[in-house]
Amino acid sequence: MDDEYTIQVSVPLDADGFLRRECPHCGRQFKWHNGPANEEAENHARPAAYSCPLCGQPAADDSWNTPEQVELFERAAMPVVLEAVQDELESMFRRTKGFTYQRGRDEVTEPAEPLVEPDDMVIVTSPCHDFEPVKVPEDHTGTLYCLICGSAFAV
Ligand SMILES: [Zn+2]
Ligand SMILES: [Zn+2]
Repeated sequence: MDDEYTIQVSVPLDADGFLRRECPHCGRQFKWHNGPANEEAENHARPAAYSCPLCGQPAADDSWNTPEQVELFERAAMPVVLEAVQDELESMFRRTKGFTYQRGRDEVTEPAEPLVEPDDMVIVTSPCHDFEPVKVPEDHTGTLYCLICGSAFAV
């Protein structure tokens, strides 16, 4: 285990620093602020789970990626996976008498299309946790739910 593989992906934020998210329950999209939105937010511990502002259902931290973001991660991981496989093959054949492993020329993998994050949606803040703004679709009307605690509120 002397090799380290690193995967670098940059997921774009909109002009206000918000990251697009998709709810695993209702499938609708909203945005949350990437990292603490302000000093007060920095002083609060992260909740165990975030709640969808649109349906109020909680889900684990890592279950909010949009299909485009999942694809971006997978494409970014692919060259690293191939390299790991080749390293493994090489060391396997090195131990096998009479065989040599010809390492394939590094495949040129196309870089993933950079995602573009449009500046859509409107910022809302919940009355109970107003340091954690979210963005919801402009056409959304009615009840919203606090990202942090899941409490219902109206805007
Ligand atoms: Zn939802
Ligand atoms: Zn709240």
